[in-house]
Amino acid sequence: MIASFGKQVVNLARWVVMCGILVFAKNVPVVVGQTVIAKTVAPPAVSAPPLARVPAEPAAPAAADAGDTTDAPLVVSGLEIDERSSTTTFTLALSKSIEAHIFTLADPYRIVIDMPEVAFHVPAGPGQDRKGLIAAVRYGLFAAGRSRVVITTLGPVRVARFETVEGPTLVALRLELVPTGVDEFAAQATTRQAAAATLRPTLGPSTPEPARQPAGGKFVIMIDPGHGGIDAGAVSADQAAEKDVVLAVALQLRSALDSKRYDVRMTRVSDTFVSLDKRVALSEAAGAGLFVSLHADAVEDAALARSVRGATVYTLSERASNDVARALADKENAADVDAGLVAVDAAEHGQVNTILADLAKRETQGFSAQFQHILVERMRIANMLGRDPSRAAAFRVLRQAQTPTVLIELGFISHPVDAAQMRLVDWQKRTAATIAAAIDAYAAVHSGR
Ligand SMILES: [Zn+2]
Repeated sequence: MIASFGKQVVNLARWVVMCGILVFAKNVPVVVGQTVIAKTVAPPAVSAPPLARVPAEPAAPAAADAGDTTDAPLVVSGLEIDERSSTTTFTLALSKSIEAHIFTLADPYRIVIDMPEVAFHVPAGPGQDRKGLIAAVRYGLFAAGRSRVVITTLGPVRVARFETVEGPTLVALRLELVPTGVDEFAAQATTRQAAAATLRPTLGPSTPEPARQPAGGKFVIMIDPGHGGIDAGAVSADQAAEKDVVLAVALQLRSALDSKRYDVRMTRVSDTFVSLDKRVALSEAAGAGLFVSLHADAVEDAALARSVRGATVYTLSERASNDVARALADKENAADVDAGLVAVDAAEHGQVNTILADLAKRETQGFSAQFQHILVERMRIANMLGRDPSRAAAFRVLRQAQTPTVLIELGFISHPVDAAQMRLVDWQKRTAATIAAAIDAYAAVHSGR
């Protein structure tokens, strides 16, 4: 394999580094700058149990004797961040060697590691709080067959070292980060953005619902479970993830809706990352008559977290109804950036410019407001609402000229009661039934249009 090329690989690695991509290969010392790194370090210890939301799989790195592990699932079983003077070391413990690509992105400063699909059985904790130069770490499935780690840094950094270290049972993938200047980072970020940009077109195949025109004249409902894959969304104190809760409710909502009456689509049906643009594109291509995005909010302030709960229904407005709504829209709109995509200015992307389309948009916003009103009334009866439940903000997924859109924050995953009930199938079913009843009432008037 690549390993047998020896010196050529070192040269290749040097060349690739200059091009902004590092390639990982089994048993190969990786060259960064002028430094050749030997592989002598023992693998990191893995002790803590896996995350509650990750089903434990017995597979992992069974026997170390195997040279035949090619078909065994790839598992990441540990994540460590160490801080020593100005250097921050980031280590992943892998079940076997992989080929990984690394590139950097600015605004915010990020290091992105792309790799083949791996199962992340990583103990909770490391990467959730800032440490050394690292502000946060996200990881998960990015597209079909591909996983991604996104390291957000506190400032511009340079990858001083990038290596794999083979131990008796695990392979350590390690990178060392040191501070650098804004200009130096910008130079490397610019050359590496091309690598990020090429990822966009490949997002398509991972989405479960191929775009097609509405069949048989049925009213098309597009259900949009927020987040997914590498993007967990909000996470509760006991590790309940927004992406899992909203997918569960979305699947319940799909079954609650009458399939004879509606053509029900979903932007995702599994734990997969789907970009915000892709969600909008799927809705537009399907000619959706209604787009319902599902989320769950969180407040960071620990004191507030115990008092803020209940659902909120948002419609689109470029001017947010208040600061909380604006902050929430900013947070939800950052999903793509968090997943390691290049930030795209909405103005240059899918923004509706013509007066005609603007009129359509105004009419559409009127329908969105009608559905919001119906839904809030239903949720009020079901006693699901928080304070001030009808709001508006500039959510990217709601910017659709032809399709009425709402975004429902189902509750606060930061509130212990909300977080607990959101995981109950019974609550998920009741919530879905309430939303379905509102859709029925809305569609009774609008499905003919
Ligand atoms: Zn969300």
